[in-house]
Amino acid sequence: MKTHRYPLPPEYLNVYNVVREFAASREHLLLKLDRASHEEVMGEIRRILRESSSIRLLSMPIPGDLGGSGYFTLGATVALEALAFHDAGLATTVGAVWLGLLPPVIANMLGRGDVGERWLRPFAEADARGEPQVWAFAITEPTAGSDYERLEPGAPQPEFLTYARREGEYWVISGRKIFISNGPIADYVTVFALTDRLKGVESMACFVVPREAEGFRVFSVIDKMGHRSSPTGELAFESVRVPEDHMVCPPGLGWDSVQLTLAYSRAPVGGIALGIAKRAYREALNYAKSRIQGGRRIAEHQIVREKLANMYIMIAAAESLVYSVVSRLESEFPPPMDDSSAAKVFASDVAVHASLEAVQIMGGYGYTRDFIVEKLVRDAKLTQIYEGTNEVNRLTISDKILSEV
Ligand SMILES: Cc1cc2nc3c(=O)[nH]c(=O)nc-3n(C[C@H](O)[C@H](O)[C@H](O)COP(=O)(O)OP(=O)(O)OC[C@H]3O[C@@H](n4cnc5c(N)ncnc54)[C@H](O)[C@@H]3O)c2cc1C
Repeated sequence: MKTHRYPLPPEYLNVYNVVREFAASREHLLLKLDRASHEEVMGEIRRILRESSSIRLLSMPIPGDLGGSGYFTLGATVALEALAFHDAGLATTVGAVWLGLLPPVIANMLGRGDVGERWLRPFAEADARGEPQVWAFAITEPTAGSDYERLEPGAPQPEFLTYARREGEYWVISGRKIFISNGPIADYVTVFALTDRLKGVESMACFVVPREAEGFRVFSVIDKMGHRSSPTGELAFESVRVPEDHMVCPPGLGWDSVQLTLAYSRAPVGGIALGIAKRAYREALNYAKSRIQGGRRIAEHQIVREKLANMYIMIAAAESLVYSVVSRLESEFPPPMDDSSAAKVFASDVAVHASLEAVQIMGGYGYTRDFIVEKLVRDAKLTQIYEGTNEVNRLTISDKILSEV
């Protein structure tokens, strides 16, 4: 059966198939992690990431000349969709590694070649040795969630908690970050901090903090509704000292790099949503073809057929939007932030709709934990919240529309 209606080039269909096979063979274990303790999840997910070196999964977004595949938008989205078809938590874990790598990838793209040699080449080399590094991306703070992704024009300066100050040849970082995917297991965390209280986000810089840095600690591991195989944490930075070469984006470039990172990563989150939606559709269709009620397969009842048709239409539309936008992300600079938001918003709304419809089509069985569709609902919901809530993404889109009036 065709996996995509959108005409993906054969090279990318191949990426999809290889990653699907990797995730499919581990689905049984990943489903167990949905109900496991934090300790078990952290151990197993690290092991799965080590195994992913066999297909060099984590090095995908590293540029080819630095030892990776250079697939940081279209290829990454195809891979995220393939992972999420089997477990959205694994997709989030892998996506969070890539999100953590994006600031150095962007800095390298903007001509800071030393960043590529310092961080990206060693990353690809470690993956090639079968010892992949786990990265995380830390911007959200307890007092600044949406405010860190979008500043309201004319609103008072949000309350930021994370600051970096210069001390001789070092930067000293203090503050808190919350809801950080991979935070509890990361070897390296890409951290955004303000360097000047008066200048605010204009003074933002981005640093790489290694796990072993003194003063860095995982404050807590967060328990959550879905994506349970993806460890999420609150991180504390208590006067963490890092040398100059750990600053990947200097003050001034920090805020721009946040905007570029979000533009490059939002539409790929649409890929995670697409994987969840396609799985929900497949489960619902298979069930509807075999369940007999009213003397007929429920797929023959007109109202169930309509639900399946609507799921199909919405998924086809989401797939077209996500893949047409991620293809453009590679060819346009600056990347189209509004369209990246549109792809994320639409695909995540489709994922929530499709997973809820799958539960409905499966009736009481869909509501039990014996079938995967209730997990899909829990997993789908997050795609409307992270990478900027859908409300905040809609504001980004409306900013663009209104600026063109
Ligand atoms: C499981 C999980 C994983 C995550 N992973 C990461 C990660 O790896 N790295 C990272 O940095 N962050 C991560 N996040 C954080 C995520 O991006 C934020 O939760 C999100 O941006 C929303 O911020 P908030 O939770 O503080 O909500 P708030 O900003 O407090 O928003 C609360 C509500 O108010 C609405 N709202 C806020 N501002 C506006 C506005 N201006 N106009 C209209 N409505 C508004 C929102 O849409 C939302 O409905 C993760 C979150 C979760 C739950």
